[in-house]
Amino acid sequence: MGEKIKKKIKTIKVDLDKCNGCRACEVICSAFHANPKYSSNNPARSRVRLIRDPIMDKYVPVYAGEYTAAECMGRDKYIIDGKEYDECEFCRAVCPSRDRFKEPDSGLPLKCDMCEGEDQPLCVKWCLAEALTVEEREEEVDEEAKMEDIEAGLASMIDKYGMDKIADTVARMSKKG
Ligand code: SF4
Ligand code: SF4
Repeated sequence: MGEKIKKKIKTIKVDLDKCNGCRACEVICSAFHANPKYSSNNPARSRVRLIRDPIMDKYVPVYAGEYTAAECMGRDKYIIDGKEYDECEFCRAVCPSRDRFKEPDSGLPLKCDMCEGEDQPLCVKWCLAEALTVEEREEEVDEEAKMEDIEAGLASMIDKYGMDKIADTVARMSKKG
């Protein structure tokens, strides 16, 4: 068994009754992750996307989750208050079936990193409607298992995008500091 380490888990709670569809969360997320930081904003680069139905006054922020090399065969479809939403509309995965949560220029996957380095996620800070709140807790995890997760993730990215593209991206990210 590997050594246990403490890991902070952050949870963003979304109160749909409070979300008014202003998209401030998308704007600040894409600006924070621009290179250089805050140099531009483009919601297509945001790690949170708003699924909107202005006529029904329904707005659902969906956060970018894990990259997956293969799209799933089973799909889901939601009907909310009588409106049927597109297939996979609320799914967080970065998958080959669609462009959502992919860097528009390179096609590389985007993932919510909880605004690493900031005292709190910026989408939470910028949500004036208080639809987003963050909770934090500590959990013990196996260090070895964590490394295995990283290796599995990297292997699937290399498989999909090729070693050169991944190496370029890592070099670009480390320059951002
Ligand atoms: S900033 Fe808040 S109210 Fe505005 S779209 Fe995002 S979650 Fe909804
Ligand atoms: S927590 Fe940060 S990275 Fe994640 S969606 Fe919100 S602003 Fe973007």
